[in-house]
Amino acid sequence: MPRPISAVIHLQNFRHNLSIVRKQIGQAKIWAVMKADGYGHGIKSIWRALSDTDGFAVLDLNEAILLRQEGWKGPILLLEGFFHSEDLLIIDQYNLATSVHSEWQLAVIENTTLNNPLALYIKLNSGMNRLGFSTDEYESVVRRLQGMHKISAITLMSHFANSDLKTGTQVPHQQIKQFDSLSLPTCIANSGAALWHSDTHYDWIRTGIVLYGASPSGKWKDIAHYNLKATMTLRSEIIAIHHIKPGQSIGYGSKFTAVKPMRIATVACGYADGYPRHAPTGTPVWCNGLKSTLLGAVSMDMLTIDITECANAKIGTNVELWGENLPIDDVAQASGTIGYELMCALAKRVPISYSG
Ligand SMILES: *Cc1c(COP(=O)(O)O)cnc(C)c1O
Repeated sequence: MPRPISAVIHLQNFRHNLSIVRKQIGQAKIWAVMKADGYGHGIKSIWRALSDTDGFAVLDLNEAILLRQEGWKGPILLLEGFFHSEDLLIIDQYNLATSVHSEWQLAVIENTTLNNPLALYIKLNSGMNRLGFSTDEYESVVRRLQGMHKISAITLMSHFANSDLKTGTQVPHQQIKQFDSLSLPTCIANSGAALWHSDTHYDWIRTGIVLYGASPSGKWKDIAHYNLKATMTLRSEIIAIHHIKPGQSIGYGSKFTAVKPMRIATVACGYADGYPRHAPTGTPVWCNGLKSTLLGAVSMDMLTIDITECANAKIGTNVELWGENLPIDDVAQASGTIGYELMCALAKRVPISYSG
């Protein structure tokens, strides 16, 4: 028997979450974002559950090629464009849309002979200062690409630094006003903007995290009323039980010391499985239908939970680290991170099964 830990991916919840996103965005089309191997869920197994999308957005050429080999014939967008000049030939061969964000990429496009017309997303730097043309140069870049016969379609693109903020001056709507005067198809909104800024939906949105049932803000309460469902449950089992007395401690560094008699359980899950090592005492854990909490430091292969109130917990009892009963956002928040990081960091050694 393998070690008792596994991740269950709930395929039907992708369909459900995609339909919730559709209801939010009216006529806009959806790029379902599948970078980082589908936020850790496995593109190869989940893409069919999302095939009602209008297109898939990925980062890596290999992810795009995989989708083509799997039989997806619809649009695919490379979110960060191409990394080397040779990549453009593969983009041409597999009929991919690509973003362009830098001058060097324009030169590559000008100097490469293509078999098919190219669909481009021209990226504006609207305040992130990671990728994109500045507001000063943007319009001339668009005009320059419009003048090339090898370009079949141009879409204006930007990415928000603060779409998870619901109000306030940091929401950079004014920077994208520049797009309105260009009268071209436009794609700006990520999950946060899709939920909370309907004036940014335009022609296409790019949603990742909400399809995976977690919150763009990192806080479950911000999405609780949308009825999104978890797509990943990380579960394991109790492998040992101890009774400890006041004054006794738990785990490396003796970070937790009991002040009353306690019943505690050792669970087969640790940071080498992708559980956050920074999760402190008090981080929520779901044990056999009851909320429990983490105690002491997370080890590489194990963690300890409080089962003083879980009378029926025994060796082999099922423990959910996050998922259908326990929002990944709540575990992430307790650990000082966001659901995105936890799902992407699921370790290779954790066996994945797909349900639905
Ligand atoms: C990852 C990414 C998205 C999706 O972001 P979510 O917050 O997961 O919706 C959208 N656009 C770009 C450019 C991205 O890199």
